[in-house]
Amino acid sequence: MENILPAYNDPLFSILLIIVIALIISVVTYAWGLYKQQKEQGNLLKFLEKFDTTECLLDTASMPFDAHMLKPLALLAQAFDNTGEYHKAINIYLYLIKNREEEGSKLELMGKLGKTYFHAGFLERAKMIFEEILRKKPRTVEALYMLEVVLEKMQEYTKAAEILEPLELLGEETKPLRTFLTFSQLIADKTLSKEQKVVELLALLKNEPKLYREIIGVLFRLDTQAAWQAIERSRIEELIDILWFLPQSQLSLDIIAQNRQLKTLYYAKGYTLEPETESGIFALDMLATAKQNGFNEGDLHFTYLCSKCKQSFPISFKRCPNCMALHTVEVEEHIAKSDPKTDYSLF
Ligand SMILES: [Zn+2]
Repeated sequence: MENILPAYNDPLFSILLIIVIALIISVVTYAWGLYKQQKEQGNLLKFLEKFDTTECLLDTASMPFDAHMLKPLALLAQAFDNTGEYHKAINIYLYLIKNREEEGSKLELMGKLGKTYFHAGFLERAKMIFEEILRKKPRTVEALYMLEVVLEKMQEYTKAAEILEPLELLGEETKPLRTFLTFSQLIADKTLSKEQKVVELLALLKNEPKLYREIIGVLFRLDTQAAWQAIERSRIEELIDILWFLPQSQLSLDIIAQNRQLKTLYYAKGYTLEPETESGIFALDMLATAKQNGFNEGDLHFTYLCSKCKQSFPISFKRCPNCMALHTVEVEEHIAKSDPKTDYSLF
């Protein structure tokens, strides 16, 4: 042995010592990495256990996983999500996440799972999923946006506003989101009086004209006169449904008399008697002309189109229920036969 190893005062001994230490360090680092990876995997499985569902008819427990199954199963889950069969979509996503090895793919699937939970109304679960994604990868812009939407839905506006800072740092434009949060917080605030809310809403409208439709809608519930004063002549068409469904007691006849579009609208509705048929809004003009010719059974129906994802909805929205975009609602009016049950006209 003495002949094999160099003596401790030999320079070769120092070199050998350095090599041995380097070897030990690399082995320990590798083992630590492996341990951490396994622990992370264990944590994820433990985390996902909270979401396990037994309501699904698909037996994923005894289904062997094959990498080729990823795409078709992910598509199937997406299809279930689109048709509202959320428990099936959730089960498939959980199965895929548990069996997938690659980290990036796992996080992508978790994002989809979070969205499905959100669509199904499980807000707390959706929040946990997006927080978990951000814990693993804090710069995931989509997860940040989704967490903000979830918190907004849970009316946790202060926490939602905190998400805007990392988004700003990542170079995202957050002004529309920030003003929308201020608006949501304002209308939910029970400590403010009606008058204070009106003042703040009008100030907010000046700062963010994109909130026009939302703010006028709320103003009509708080202060009719302030709402009429805030209506811009060039943007009446954006409010056509709000104005159409306004009770007759809330009309401002002075303002209506000065505007051709408003005159046509309320003549067609049957609230005013002076004929006017030239608003520039096709459905409204047709209805008013029909009324002038003695046809009183016409009505306007509305659908709401998202200008971003082009999906149409039967009720109005502040945030698109499909793509979550803000300020994308486009009101589309259609002529329909009036239903006597919903026609409040006195004429
Ligand atoms: Zn949309």
